[in-house]
Amino acid sequence: MEIVLGKYGGFCFGVKRAIQLAFEKGERHDGSIYTLGPIIHNPQVVEKLDSLGVREVSDLDEVANPSESAVIIRSHGVGPQVYDRALAMGVAVEDATCPYVKRIHSIVTDLVAQEYQVLIVGEPDHPEVVAIKAYAGEHGVVVEHPSDLESIKLARKTGVVAQTTQSQEKLQQVVSALLAKRNSEVRIFNTICDATDVRQKEAVEIASGSDVVLVIGGRKSGNTNRLAEICIGIQPDTYHIETAAELQTEWFRGKQRVGITAGASTPDYLISEVIEVLQRISRENSGKT
Ligand code: SF4
Repeated sequence: MEIVLGKYGGFCFGVKRAIQLAFEKGERHDGSIYTLGPIIHNPQVVEKLDSLGVREVSDLDEVANPSESAVIIRSHGVGPQVYDRALAMGVAVEDATCPYVKRIHSIVTDLVAQEYQVLIVGEPDHPEVVAIKAYAGEHGVVVEHPSDLESIKLARKTGVVAQTTQSQEKLQQVVSALLAKRNSEVRIFNTICDATDVRQKEAVEIASGSDVVLVIGGRKSGNTNRLAEICIGIQPDTYHIETAAELQTEWFRGKQRVGITAGASTPDYLISEVIEVLQRISRENSGKT
């Protein structure tokens, strides 16, 4: 059985940076370290960090000893109010916001200063979108589907940004619907991250050329779920797994080619474990144990 691993699966640059920072802080044990929300949508990594004393909190109020603690901001970023509150509480901030997300914050801040309405194409409850909206304040509106524009009162000047993990198709659909409204001024910023785009395109190739596909990553990870959707659409024999423990021998009986892709929050060691188990299953299925 041939095992084909995508080149672009696994940690993206922004996630790698955030994880590295969290592990460095945990290994140094300097004061109490917290992450605001899970550092990535991967329970195995969050547990590992917890064992090093890096605890997850959902709100700054949960930080026990503010003046002796540091809080790590994850790659999704947070709104300006969170920095202000941390400063007021005396909590040190270790900022691992992805630079690509930071760029969106500064675009939005500029648009607001120039009195543009800000349309954010994305999932309203996703932490990255919640933070971007916080920079836009009352000027910000989240557009999840092009049809949402029907119920939005558009301003004369409108700026569009997108959640970094949105698909290009979705952004194009929203922009087309917006242009059809004939606003007097529309500025579009394509803020979709290349890492997402490249990984999704590769997932299409992998699914097209394999007779079974594994998508490795947290079930709460939006970008992993999107990869799984893409692969299932092409190859119905696609399995979304979090760890090698979920692999079942019968999925691979009679299969020639297994394609593997992984979400942006999937560590390399989990991918390696899956490959090891697959190699064992391959030997067993071919009777060469
Ligand atoms: S997907 Fe892109 S924008 Fe998001 S954290 Fe990774 S590198 Fe940054």
